[in-house]
Amino acid sequence: MTDAQARAASAGFEKLSLRGVTRAYGKNPPALCDFDLELGRGDFVALLGPSGCGKSTALACLAGLQPLTRGSIWRDEERIDTRPTEQRGFGMVFQNYALFPHLSVQKNVEFGLAMRKVARRERQQRALAALRTVQLEEHAGKLPSQLSGGQQQRVAIARALAIEPEVVLMDEPLSNLDAALRIEMRTEIKRLYQERGLTVLYVTHDQEEALSLATRLVVLRKGRLEQTGTPQEVYTNPVSAYVAGFMGYRNLFPASYLESGAGREVTVSAFETSVTGTLIAGEQPVSGGEVTVAIRPEDFTIAADADKNAIKAIAEVVEFHGRELSVQARTAAGGVLHLKTDQSVVAGSNLALTARPDRVLVYQGGLDRSELDIEVGAA
Ligand code: ADP
Repeated sequence: MTDAQARAASAGFEKLSLRGVTRAYGKNPPALCDFDLELGRGDFVALLGPSGCGKSTALACLAGLQPLTRGSIWRDEERIDTRPTEQRGFGMVFQNYALFPHLSVQKNVEFGLAMRKVARRERQQRALAALRTVQLEEHAGKLPSQLSGGQQQRVAIARALAIEPEVVLMDEPLSNLDAALRIEMRTEIKRLYQERGLTVLYVTHDQEEALSLATRLVVLRKGRLEQTGTPQEVYTNPVSAYVAGFMGYRNLFPASYLESGAGREVTVSAFETSVTGTLIAGEQPVSGGEVTVAIRPEDFTIAADADKNAIKAIAEVVEFHGRELSVQARTAAGGVLHLKTDQSVVAGSNLALTARPDRVLVYQGGLDRSELDIEVGAA
């Protein structure tokens, strides 16, 4: 297929659809199971979840790097999962850059164009234009090893853009960069997405990255879709304690159900007090039944000591973060709580903590911490 054909093949679609996509490796349970996803033109969709939940498999299936065990993939009305990778016309960027070490930066960027039999002059021009987009034009003659990690990743992005794809697939593109570069490159990716009117599928395990880049989040759990929505929807209303754990609800602890109030308000017993929250999904629990409570550090308020419904704890570690303090506190029973506050707190002081019932999310059942590869507070 020539470049012109490849570009025509990917031009002007309205949506890409994954329908019931399943991928099993050998006899193991499927890495991805009955997965449905629609990518509208211009969407920036982040696939989010802990390591091993099937994100890369979903991307690899869409890219044509992994065959489907079941299901199908469509570009509008046309079935594309039977097409080889190079005919799908996607730009791809991976965590490990995958640059050729013996080729110059310029030749690396030209590579995809050479594969598509683009004439030499045009190839050179398009590669330089792509390098200009990522502000690396003056490094065109260097070898990848002469560039920093961030610059190498920008070369990988330029290479993906040089074929002028409408869809770019990115798999943890920033994971190998240090914190400062990660933020810089995040902005760069967002700028390119906006300027080029790209459609992006982006794999990450980093909620902050997903929240700041994506127009839509898709949270996976053991190869299945757990929740999808705008970053704001998923952040504010996680459907499960699992999703909450990913959305910055650092305080995740077991509690037992006491009674129901008006609407979905429920009272639970935790840390030797009763805490009022909101039951998120499912039937009312049975009395004494196990529930999981999720509270974000910024949703705690320091109350008066006498407040009998407050959780009592002692400030253990206090970190200064400019406008606020980040505090790790310990309850009498040994549970660890995290809070953010603009009040002054010193290590060793007694705290009484409350949170608005609508910001205390209560989920049926216990929490399998091993599923979350993030650090969460133990009760
Ligand atoms: P994630 O990207 O969320 O970390 P992956 O899609 O890479 O997850 O992996 C999902 C599951 O599939 C994991 O259990 C992983 O070990 C398994 N897996 C991934 N790729 C392969 C492969 N090529 N062969 C066998 N098992 C694989």
